[in-house]
Amino acid sequence: MISSIPKWVSNLFGNTLRPNVKIVEISYLSPQIKKIRFQGDISKWSFQIGFASVVRVSETEFRNYTIAYHDKENGIFDIVFHIHGSGIGSQLINSLKTNDELFISPPRGKKFYEPSIKQQFIVGDETSLGLACSFLSFLRQGQHQFQFYFELDEENRNVPELLGLENCTIFFKNGSFRNKEWISNLPIFQTLDLATASFVLSGNVKSVQTFRQILKNKTAGKIFSQGYWLEGKKGL
Ligand SMILES: Cc1cc2nc3c(=O)[nH]c(=O)nc-3n(C[C@H](O)[C@H](O)[C@H](O)COP(=O)(O)OP(=O)(O)OC[C@H]3O[C@@H](n4cnc5c(N)ncnc54)[C@H](O)[C@@H]3O)c2cc1C
Repeated sequence: MISSIPKWVSNLFGNTLRPNVKIVEISYLSPQIKKIRFQGDISKWSFQIGFASVVRVSETEFRNYTIAYHDKENGIFDIVFHIHGSGIGSQLINSLKTNDELFISPPRGKKFYEPSIKQQFIVGDETSLGLACSFLSFLRQGQHQFQFYFELDEENRNVPELLGLENCTIFFKNGSFRNKEWISNLPIFQTLDLATASFVLSGNVKSVQTFRQILKNKTAGKIFSQGYWLEGKKGL
């Protein structure tokens, strides 16, 4: 996905990339996790689980974020942002306050939800919390059996609960999600029907790749995966 465009292109599209949403509410779920409610004309937007929107974070830079919740009638939507410090996106998000305006595109991308699959196993990190929120009501309504596995910094351990997520198992970031043997021996693989379950992998690229490799050998079920960020790489 494109994360930056030349300045002349940005000038060319100037009007269409102008601020189109306004911040109406902000809450911090931890010092690193900022949930922002936006208001704008989203009447024609299509919301699918797994889709992401691009946020214009500077004149020429764009970053992907997932819409965690939306209400078309009232024109509002929420994004759960991970503030990790070093990136231009993270810095902008950190500075945002109520009534600020910015450009956010309609969501697009890969679909991650298959309603006909009974058991759904969803793996991610702080950047996947919004995806998990968008999943939850569908998982409940569809009476799925589901489990979230998150690798999180210790200071974010309470965030899934604060977001109202359920069936969450939390692991602190210590390299486990990149350890093939550790992943292979996870007890969840004894309880899932590996022939039919679906697996949704997002978050850190290396963690996604490691889980995917293990799952490829274990399951005939559907694997949906997308890396959301990679050490040393700007804007995936
Ligand atoms: C489809 C999709 C959906 C996404 N949804 C969300 C979402 O809902 N919420 C969310 O917070 N993020 C989400 N992301 C991830 C987000 O786009 C990236 O984290 C992005 O790189 C942040 O931009 P930045 O300008 O802050 O950092 P960049 O300029 O892109 O990167 C600067 C440095 O920071 C590092 N870095 C980037 N992200 C992280 C991180 N999360 N933790 C630690 N270091 C990091 C990079 O490796 C790089 O070294 C999503 C990504 C994709 C592709």
